[in-house]
Amino acid sequence: MELDGFGCLSSSDGLDEDEIRHHHPHHHHHQFSSSKPHNATANNNNNNNNSVNNVVGSTAIAPATNVHELLECPVCTNSMYPPIHQCHNGHTLCSTCKTRVHNRCPTCRQELGDIRCLALEKVAESLELPCKYCSLGCPEIFPYYSKLKHEVVCNFRPYNCPYAGSECSTVGDIPFLVSHLRDDHKVDMHTGCTFNHRYVKSNPREVENATWMLTVFHCFGQYFCLHFEAFQLGMAPVYMAFLRFMGDETEARSYSYSLEVGANGRKLIWEGSPRSIRDSHQKVRDSHDGLIIQRNMALFFSGGDKKELKLRVTGRIWKEQQNPEASVGMPNLCS
Ligand SMILES: [Zn+2]
Ligand SMILES: [Zn+2]
Ligand SMILES: [Zn+2]
Ligand SMILES: [Zn+2]
Repeated sequence: MELDGFGCLSSSDGLDEDEIRHHHPHHHHHQFSSSKPHNATANNNNNNNNSVNNVVGSTAIAPATNVHELLECPVCTNSMYPPIHQCHNGHTLCSTCKTRVHNRCPTCRQELGDIRCLALEKVAESLELPCKYCSLGCPEIFPYYSKLKHEVVCNFRPYNCPYAGSECSTVGDIPFLVSHLRDDHKVDMHTGCTFNHRYVKSNPREVENATWMLTVFHCFGQYFCLHFEAFQLGMAPVYMAFLRFMGDETEARSYSYSLEVGANGRKLIWEGSPRSIRDSHQKVRDSHDGLIIQRNMALFFSGGDKKELKLRVTGRIWKEQQNPEASVGMPNLCS
């Protein structure tokens, strides 16, 4: 057995344990590539300054998509929101870029001045656009100015990689992230709704802040992340285990889980609802929403000579019974 860092022994029935090593964090940076063309500056230049290729019709403003392009800042390509600015020659730019260009129009290099483009702001107001996650399944259409607000909370927005301990910037939908965890982070995958894990740490006197482990469980057609880690809670070194649901908050609420750790006639039991991976690992940890084991107790459970920490954590995930009468059947205690 490897004695540096965490090792993990695991099985679903507790009889035949297979060793799973702790893998070190990988720093992969996969990202969905943006489908938005970043050529707005080129387009604008061509349309306005290049008369050679000016075929009749190509500069005419076609409805919908081209209006959308007009609202893209030619400098940073972000969508523009009021106040939208323009130079004396009519080149537009967003308010963020305006503060950065030292009063020179980035397109024609003339002095920029302080002219607002009210007409474009009005056009924007009249636009209705699909949510930017429409290609991921969001069917919603919004007035231009409320689109941004929706996109921050859109249910179809991609999830962040749930792997803790590395600044992984990968985003995607759940199936994509499951294969990313397996292939890039070498996370252990288990099928079934019960688990029996043995966490082994060679030097329990050292509790580095960033010691953690992740195992993914697949049951009920869903994926769950079991986190186990050691950190300093105030002055006290603790171990903590908790489950996160790979999906949205509302769906997470239809599941429950329990965790148990113990030995020598004592045990700690935690029962809770998994948090969505929309909540960051850090946030769940900081809210102590999980099984927390003080180090002294952990060493007691561990037994032996206390030179090595061996914690057996068992657990179960279950689906809550959907009870449509729950709100109706409240007993009236006064009658
Ligand atoms: Zn800009
Ligand atoms: Zn200009
Ligand atoms: Zn949406
Ligand atoms: Zn990742």
